[in-house]
Amino acid sequence: MFKAKAYSASSATSPLASTTISRRDPTDRDVQIEILFCGICHSDLHYARDEWHDVMPTVYPCVPGHEIVGRVTKVGSAVTKFKLNDVVGVGCLVDSDGTCPQCKAGFENFCPKQVLTYGSPDRHKTAAVTYGGYSDSVVVDERFVLRIPTKLNLAGAAPLLCAGITTYSPMRHWGVAKGKKVGVVGLGGLGHMGVKFAHAFGAHTVVFTTSPKKKEDALRLGADEVVVSRHADEMNKHAGSFDFILDCVAAEHDINAYINLLARDGNITLVGAPEKPLSVSAFGLIFGRRSLSGSPIGGIAETQEMLDFCGQHNITADVEVIPIQMVNEAYERMVKSDAKYRFSIDMASLKSA
Ligand SMILES: [Zn+2]
Ligand SMILES: [Zn+2]
Repeated sequence: MFKAKAYSASSATSPLASTTISRRDPTDRDVQIEILFCGICHSDLHYARDEWHDVMPTVYPCVPGHEIVGRVTKVGSAVTKFKLNDVVGVGCLVDSDGTCPQCKAGFENFCPKQVLTYGSPDRHKTAAVTYGGYSDSVVVDERFVLRIPTKLNLAGAAPLLCAGITTYSPMRHWGVAKGKKVGVVGLGGLGHMGVKFAHAFGAHTVVFTTSPKKKEDALRLGADEVVVSRHADEMNKHAGSFDFILDCVAAEHDINAYINLLARDGNITLVGAPEKPLSVSAFGLIFGRRSLSGSPIGGIAETQEMLDFCGQHNITADVEVIPIQMVNEAYERMVKSDAKYRFSIDMASLKSA
C-alpha cells in the first residue's frame, strides 16, 4: 500500500477536508494513475451528505469523485492496454464480475456485482470502501480504464466520464440521428451535454427550459430551437412531433407535458432522478404507443466509443475549473444550480493542501 492525498468528508454534516488515504500497490492487471482533473457530479454531493441513506448508506470517511482524468504512472506486469504517460479516464465503475450475462453483453453498468468508484466494499481490502477521484492518485483494473483522446481539453473531458456517457448512451440506444427530432429537458450539467450530443448526431435539437434567460446559451451549445416550458402555447406547437426526449430534470415536474410531445413510438428517457415518484398518465403513453424509460451511465465499451466520438467532434463539457480548496463552495453553488455547467477540480491544487 502507499499513501495518497485526498479530500474527504468525515460525516454527513462536515465539509470536505484534506486527508491522507491508502491506495493498493498495483497488481498485475492494475494501472496506477496520477489524477489531473476530477469533475464534480451531483452524486458526489448526495453521497458525501448521506442523502441516499436508504439505498446506499455512506461509509465515512468518504472520498467522492467519479469523473477522473489523469496520466498513467505505473502499470502491472500483465497490463496490455496502457503504458506509462498515457492519458486515461475512470468513470463510475472500477470493477465487475465479468462473468454475468450483463458483463458478457458489455453492460457492466447493469452488473449486480459492479464495484463503484467510491463507496463500494473494497475487494482489495485497502479500506472498507472504495475511494474516488478527489485524490492525487488512483489504482484501477485496466479493464475499467478508458483512453482519453489527447486533443481534448482535459479539464472539460473529465465530466464526459459520467455526465457524458449518461446522456450519450440513451441517445445511441434510441437511435438519435440526422432526420430525428430530439428534445432535451433542463439545461444543467447533464442537459448541456445532451444538447451537444444531439447536435453532433445531426438531430434537430430542441431545448426545454423554465428560464428564458438560458435561450442564448442553449443556441450556442447547439440547440436549433428553445422552448420555455411554462408557456403552454409554445409547448402545444410541438405536440406529437418528437422522436426522442431526454429528461434531465432532478426536481419535481410534469412529465405528461413532455409525453404528449412525443410522436408515434416516441420515447422519453429519464436521466435526472426526482426524489418523489412521478405521476404518469396512461393515456399519454397509450395514444401513440409511446414509451417512458430510464438509463444509467453506460458500459465500458460504450464509454470508450463515446470518448472517441468526443475526440472526433471535439466535444467536452463546459467547465469552471476550481482548486480542490473550493470544493465545498462548489457544492453550495451546485445546490443553487449556479454552475456553467460543470465544475472540474484541478488536482494540482491538492499538492498545496
Ligand atoms: Zn456522476
Ligand atoms: Zn457482471
